[in-house]
Amino acid sequence: MPSSNLQILIAACLGIAIGWLTGALPEQSSLREEVLYASGLLASIFVGLLKMVLIPLVFTSIAVGVANLQAHKQVHRVWLSTLVYFTLTTGIAMLIALIAANLVKPGAGLSIELFAAKMEGFEAAQLTLPEFFQHFFANLFQNPFAAFANNNILAVVVFAMFIGVALVAGGERYRNILQLLQEFLDMLLRIVSWIMRLAPLGILALLIKLVAEQDISLLSAVGGFIVLVFATTLFHGIVVLPGILFLTTGRSPLWLWRGAREAVITAFATSSSAATLPVSIRCAEENLKVDKRFAGFVLPLGATMNMDGTALYEAAAALFVANLVGIELSLAQQGVVFFTAMIASTGAPGIPSAGMVTMVMVLQAVGLPAEAVAILLPIDRLLDTVRTAVNVEGDIVGSVVVQRFSGDH
Ligand code: ASP
Repeated sequence: MPSSNLQILIAACLGIAIGWLTGALPEQSSLREEVLYASGLLASIFVGLLKMVLIPLVFTSIAVGVANLQAHKQVHRVWLSTLVYFTLTTGIAMLIALIAANLVKPGAGLSIELFAAKMEGFEAAQLTLPEFFQHFFANLFQNPFAAFANNNILAVVVFAMFIGVALVAGGERYRNILQLLQEFLDMLLRIVSWIMRLAPLGILALLIKLVAEQDISLLSAVGGFIVLVFATTLFHGIVVLPGILFLTTGRSPLWLWRGAREAVITAFATSSSAATLPVSIRCAEENLKVDKRFAGFVLPLGATMNMDGTALYEAAAALFVANLVGIELSLAQQGVVFFTAMIASTGAPGIPSAGMVTMVMVLQAVGLPAEAVAILLPIDRLLDTVRTAVNVEGDIVGSVVVQRFSGDH
């Protein structure tokens, strides 16, 4: 029996192949319907199980992580290196996108009128930068039960941080609560390891559905843009992030791939950094031997705030839309794209197509039509795969790098 890590890789390849075959069956074929039904059911069970442990896991790992960091007086270094790492890697991702899009000019030669039918009647939810900030900060502090119930990860993170700091401030007095949380965290990771037994099947099902439901004719119209996004995102994931890891910690790309592939493939198949979080924590702690203090802090925060793939995509997509409309964005305007895409990716929750919602903000910031999102939506499920995989890889690399700079290893 191959290791679970290898099983997942085999399942991913099989899923793509079966999905492709299923997609080639005629629309009315009952076999096609049955395969799609079965894979839809299995996929939703797998993702549902991951989501089931997500919020308790985020809460306990942040609370325990912060409490232990505070106790070791490492908290400032961890904060600082996390922040520097998140900003730097997201910035590099967007620079790659902007440079590549300026060189290749995706969408030049096409006209936005070609897509008029798609945009007709489409109303993009408007989101200006001030509205975004208002929404972001209003959501940061919430009744924890509401945050738990609504899967509002950022608010759960904030509440858990307060608990973590209070646990240390109270010292001996709250020793039992800390111990309880530690045991609870341990127990949740045990449940995650059970869920991961289902991962090969879940990933197989997710990918069958994803590939079978792609509309190839639609993809070809914007093929150049898709290739550009894939190529630049992969460059970031295969060259830049492993390069940063190697330069800062001396760890090889192969070591990273072996340790992180379960999470990267799960992210690829689910398109959700949040749903992948239980797997990322497991990979970082068990395979890459990142201490709970760092993994438990950097990964949940990164799952919502550090999205290199999303930032890269939003920057590239803004330039693509500008080319469609026939507007040449000046350097200053590209600077605006850079900063809004950074904020947009930070604020996007780790769920499928979240980047599409915050994308509107980037388009509006430089006066591009928000309705152009209608052109991007149909291809988003496909692009979201690689972008989420790189988002998750960035978080995992971050946990190793932060551990290195926070003194321990
Ligand atoms: N699906 C992405 C994620 O979960 C977010 C996005 O849409 O870019 O990381």
